[in-house]
Amino acid sequence: MEPPKPNPPPCPFNKLFPSQLEKDDTFFMKLAYNQAIDAWRADEVPIGAVIEYDGEVIAAAHNQVESTKDPTAHAEIIAITQASTFLKDWRLNAATLYVTKEPCPMCSGASIMSRLGRVVYGLPDPKMGCLGGAANLNDLPQANHKLVITPGVLQEECQALIQAFFQAKRKSE
Ligand SMILES: [Zn+2]
Repeated sequence: MEPPKPNPPPCPFNKLFPSQLEKDDTFFMKLAYNQAIDAWRADEVPIGAVIEYDGEVIAAAHNQVESTKDPTAHAEIIAITQASTFLKDWRLNAATLYVTKEPCPMCSGASIMSRLGRVVYGLPDPKMGCLGGAANLNDLPQANHKLVITPGVLQEECQALIQAFFQAKRKSE
């Protein structure tokens, strides 16, 4: 049997083109948002991530669970692997992960295990978020690495994208 081809509903959102003059949290989150748009266009749940190191983007990925049939193919996991390959080091202390939705248990764990310096996320997730939304793995009392966490960057835009995607999918079924 042929695997189903991607058949995304039309994406009503446009990519963002932030000024490079100020590379702040919003700048990098807009790049993560653009990855999420790419996810939608590939008929994947629109979550995107980038990793910043020394002012540069060293990893960019979107959710690929459907196309790869791999439940671990979340944007954050793919981006962490890219960043580790780029830096030739599994320790990412000097890097910051930007992701459009709060990381799930797996991705929160991977953020801690890769010793990311900071995690910045857009939309909090009270169901599955494990950096403050539903639980906080960063609070493990004996853990020897703590993330610096910045929630709520570009939250409205990230939320609108995810909500619209699920609404459109429900309509098309
Ligand atoms: Zn995840």
